[in-house]
Amino acid sequence: MLETTVVVIGGGATGMGTLRDLSMRGVPAILLEQGGLAHGTSSRFHGLLHSGGRYVVNDPESARECIEENMILRRVGKQCVEVTEGLFVLTPKDDPTFVEPWIKGCAAAGIKAEEISPAEARRLEPDLTPDAQRVFRVPDSCVDGFRLVLHNRMSAERYGGRALTYHEVVAIRQRNGAVCGVTARNLMTGETVDIACRMVVNAAGSWSGEVAALAGLEAAITPD
Ligand SMILES: Cc1cc2nc3c(=O)[nH]c(=O)nc-3n(C[C@H](O)[C@H](O)[C@H](O)COP(=O)(O)OP(=O)(O)OC[C@H]3O[C@@H](n4cnc5c(N)ncnc54)[C@H](O)[C@@H]3O)c2cc1C
Repeated sequence: MLETTVVVIGGGATGMGTLRDLSMRGVPAILLEQGGLAHGTSSRFHGLLHSGGRYVVNDPESARECIEENMILRRVGKQCVEVTEGLFVLTPKDDPTFVEPWIKGCAAAGIKAEEISPAEARRLEPDLTPDAQRVFRVPDSCVDGFRLVLHNRMSAERYGGRALTYHEVVAIRQRNGAVCGVTARNLMTGETVDIACRMVVNAAGSWSGEVAALAGLEAAITPD
């Protein structure tokens, strides 16, 4: 039987980031992933590293979290970020009264939104609509999910963390109402692996409801 402090379930961006963070803090941890690395949403997304610009008016809290995370990722995941930056564009079809609250929202959230001329914007992005009336440059960029997860794994392992792929968690064991271990199935060999632990992190994305159910808990997840 293996033994650790924390078992992280799910080897996507959330789980592998958690494993890296725990490992760098000196907390013994093992991650279990049922497929290969980034088997779930973390390899099937659009690759936009959000600046938070799209949320500043309707969801300022998310906007602040986005820009904070964006700046952290540029630092700790440098090789995974392509610094393309992004453009927010006002066209004749858009509501021009949205611009001022949007600019104020960006300032409040700490998102740098720099107005550039439509001509300059077309120089940067030749396929931009010729109808552009106002253009703002924001720190939206591109993130490579595969690399991010791989690099986080490499970093976590340098600090003693372990990640086991093709290991599906099939049971979360408890004693006196507290987690004491998990059971995983090695999908390559069919073997069963027991890991004693004191804590479990459910980073199973769309599968979180099913993983919570293994601990007798209910999490209403509706993938869409
Ligand atoms: C179409 C689409 C486009 C998106 N575009 C963007 C974007 O441009 N920018 C952005 O920031 N976000 C985007 N997102 C959101 C982003 O992709 C997700 O927030 C992120 O990938 C979630 O990562 P995760 O690690 O939480 O989940 P996942 O990557 O899904 O990881 C969960 C992992 O858990 C594993 N797992 C599940 N059950 C078990 C088990 N029993 N045992 C072991 N392992 C298990 C799965 O195999 C999976 O690998 C997009 C999402 C979608 C759907």
